[in-house]
Amino acid sequence: TTAVHDATCIFCKIIKGEIPSFKVYETSHSFAFLDIQPIAKGHTLVIPKYHGAKLHNLPDEYLADILPAAKKVTEILNLNVDGADIQEGSQYNILQNNGTSAHQVVPHVHFHVIPKPSAEKGLV
Ligand code: 5GP
Ligand code: ZN
Repeated sequence: TTAVHDATCIFCKIIKGEIPSFKVYETSHSFAFLDIQPIAKGHTLVIPKYHGAKLHNLPDEYLADILPAAKKVTEILNLNVDGADIQEGSQYNILQNNGTSAHQVVPHVHFHVIPKPSAEKGLV
């Protein structure tokens, strides 16, 4: 596990348990945990267990694992309930930034899963 991690990276430290996090889900290649500054309740980050700054730096085996992991996070967060009308179903954003000009702050690939509870339910 030495080559795939960067000793100075905060997200690599979270994967190794050197920085505490609230784990949401984990697979052989991916790790999901709550964002420390959530912009919505349940805001989760899904990261590869491989230190790559940008999406194109990741080996395909990590890319192949991370979207199913993000899908599982939507199930864990109870976001996978589809209604007959799109406004009735649970709402969320999946976001992934590459580079400082693209608003990336932590240079280890991460997918944001951001719940968007409907205003009608009084959850925002
Ligand atoms: P970016 O702007 O790079 O796409 O998002 C980085 C995200 O990482 C931010 O939402 C920020 O709150 C989160 N973050 C930064 N440091 C930590 C940390 O130490 N622990 C956790 N759980 N989240 C972090
Ligand atoms: Zn890293």
